[in-house]
Amino acid sequence: MACTVTADDGQRTTQILGICPACDHPIPKPNLLIAYETADGWPRMFAECPSCGEPVHPE
Ligand SMILES: [Zn+2]
Repeated sequence: MACTVTADDGQRTTQILGICPACDHPIPKPNLLIAYETADGWPRMFAECPSCGEPVHPE
């Protein structure tokens, strides 16, 4: 199977971690502050919301 690589593939779309639970603003991946796993196996993330500037858990 041929693998076609496009020059701007993947670089233009900003990846979104999730939505700010406080203001519904999408939080881009570079805003991730810390990611960790809790004892019950759920991955948790803290990211700074670009809209309200708070460290939140993206949803
Ligand atoms: Zn927010």
